[in-house]
Amino acid sequence: MENKNNYDYLLSDLTKLNGVGKKTMEILKKKKVNNIFDLLWRLPKSYTDRTLVSKICDLQIGRTQTIRIVPLKYQFPRIRNLPNKVNCIDQTGKIDCIFFNSHEGYVRKILPLNEEVTISGKVSAYKGRYQITNPTYVSQDSSLIETIDNKYSLTEGITEKNYNKIIKQILQNLPILKEWHDKDVLKKFNNESWNNSIIKLHDPTNIENYKANFYKRLAYDEILASFLVNSEIRKKIKKIKKVSKKFDDKAHNDIINKLDFNLTNDQTKSLDDINKDLNSKSKMFRLLQGDVGSGKTIVALISSLNVVSSGFQVALMAPTEILARQHYMLAKKLFPKKICIELLSSKSENIKKKKIINELKNNKINMVFGTHAIFQKKIIFAKLGYIIIDEQHKFGVRQRKLLSDKGGDNCDVLLMSATPIPRTLTMSIYGDMDVSIIREKPSNRKEVKTYSKLENKIDDVIKFVKKEIKEGNQVFWVCPLIEESKKLDHQSSVNKYKFLNDIFPNNVALLHGKIENEEKEKILNKFLNKEYSILVSTTIIEVGIDFPNANVIIIENANKFGLSQLHQLRGRVGRGLKQASCILMFKSNLTINAKKRINILKNSNDGFEISEEDMKLRGFGDLLGFKQSGVKNFRLADPIQNEDLFLLAEKEIQKIEKENSNINQYKALLKLYDQADIINDIV
Ligand code: ADP
Ligand code: MG
Repeated sequence: MENKNNYDYLLSDLTKLNGVGKKTMEILKKKKVNNIFDLLWRLPKSYTDRTLVSKICDLQIGRTQTIRIVPLKYQFPRIRNLPNKVNCIDQTGKIDCIFFNSHEGYVRKILPLNEEVTISGKVSAYKGRYQITNPTYVSQDSSLIETIDNKYSLTEGITEKNYNKIIKQILQNLPILKEWHDKDVLKKFNNESWNNSIIKLHDPTNIENYKANFYKRLAYDEILASFLVNSEIRKKIKKIKKVSKKFDDKAHNDIINKLDFNLTNDQTKSLDDINKDLNSKSKMFRLLQGDVGSGKTIVALISSLNVVSSGFQVALMAPTEILARQHYMLAKKLFPKKICIELLSSKSENIKKKKIINELKNNKINMVFGTHAIFQKKIIFAKLGYIIIDEQHKFGVRQRKLLSDKGGDNCDVLLMSATPIPRTLTMSIYGDMDVSIIREKPSNRKEVKTYSKLENKIDDVIKFVKKEIKEGNQVFWVCPLIEESKKLDHQSSVNKYKFLNDIFPNNVALLHGKIENEEKEKILNKFLNKEYSILVSTTIIEVGIDFPNANVIIIENANKFGLSQLHQLRGRVGRGLKQASCILMFKSNLTINAKKRINILKNSNDGFEISEEDMKLRGFGDLLGFKQSGVKNFRLADPIQNEDLFLLAEKEIQKIEKENSNINQYKALLKLYDQADIINDIV
């Protein structure tokens, strides 16, 4: 055995193990098991206890039992398809061992006549005699059979016996790793070492023993590893030196005076955070998180002004053209005339586009708005100093890192997201960034009243809609997007459109995924200009677009959506001064769980609170598509059950950052748990 302190063994590929060849390795690779370490996290589901030895007279049919028997006579029929048979006995009775598809020589070898053999297997009966078919647990050495064997969820092609052998082999050869946690942290887990914890993890008596110290320790390892990586990325970005941006108090105050509202405290606080970062000598990499309608855009625009005043260019990227245009129009309204801003739109004429590209290169344009097209290769900024990305919560750590590299060292980066997430997840998802949160809603905002209605009560809903339209309000009518059946979904929105158009002729617009982008924008613009009162759509109504006149949102088949998503949809309305309503429609009576969920939504308008509750009810994976975003999926740690461990890890990271401690002690932890290449730059 090699160096016992070395974790290389764990990172070796599986063929290093006795009994694992290319074939087994390939099978496991398909299950994302690439090395020995990965195998440790496939936990036993249950176990078979072979330690209890029975007498033949006590056997129970259908159960797996262990017996000590003596083979008396072979029967090797010369007819094909008939099994080989061995008659065996103990002091209390008779049993036959049956072998299909096996060689005579093999049977003779494992069941030598007149010698005691221990055998374990499922007992059946045939013509009044006990039998065990194709026994795999057979040996003259009873200690090899009388064991407790784990049942893992097995992969086709690997037998339970072999799999257990592999795991046992690994557990016997586990390197004893140098402890990476500090003493006081370890104490919280009753000083369980990593090594012992892993052994306990595979001990069949510990199945589902989530509350045990060894389990918590392992979960904590995992959390800390992921937080540490994020923290190191953040530190690395912070180390990048940049030219600090100077402040222009006058421009700042002018724009604030122009607003017909006061900034909320959280807006002011976020703006301060951002301005401090812009002003500092190290690169900003910050997330501005706030519920839909919390007023992030204005914060982004005011901070941009400072950057422009210091002679740098700003690029604001939105997910859609229409949103980019809305931001551009707002800036046009608020910014002093001397500041040159442009919208780079795919629809602009080529001459116009060329002009913008040229002027960006010559530093004639101070700020540009657009979709991801503003980061095409051919677009060169003379002096880019600030990148703002709106509504991109689905960017993973890697994409964000690329972005932050893009603008060069002098470029600060701000991401904005309207997807509140539970506190325990902030460090896992955004730990590589500094975070500012706008929790407070603008004071003029009225809560959206939320109702639930059965579909057969649609007449009531129509009556209500009629009244709202009469008062000059506009209505969103959302039909769900059923992933498996885009066609069906398309149908349902088309049908609803027809239905509503009969009632409200020429006053209904339709939007669904099959409509081309350009046409889509046209429809949205018409709706913004109040040419229609009702917009029927799938969930594609753009995130972030401000429809101040829309007052009612009706969501069909509401049980198809997660709470956070319903909350986001609901946030499309209620931006104006009038009372807004959200009507959740259901096909049939609600289950108790569904009722619980809907009540959370009715009682709260706080996206953060709702996301916490949503996570508790549905688990973390389902939370607004974070699964697809490359967010780390934990193997043991559970953001709901292990909230305390997430908070503990957060505290530990803060301590490490504050004391600027060397993280060398965590090298093995990081190498093992985060095999990403990003690590190579860190330790
Ligand atoms: P989001 O955070 O979802 O991007 P927006 O920036 O689009 O929100 O703001 C939503 C609306 O709220 C806009 O019409 C904006 O002008 C308005 N708004 C922003 N801040 C305030 C405030 N402090 N008081 C009142 N209205 C505000
Ligand atoms: Mg927005």
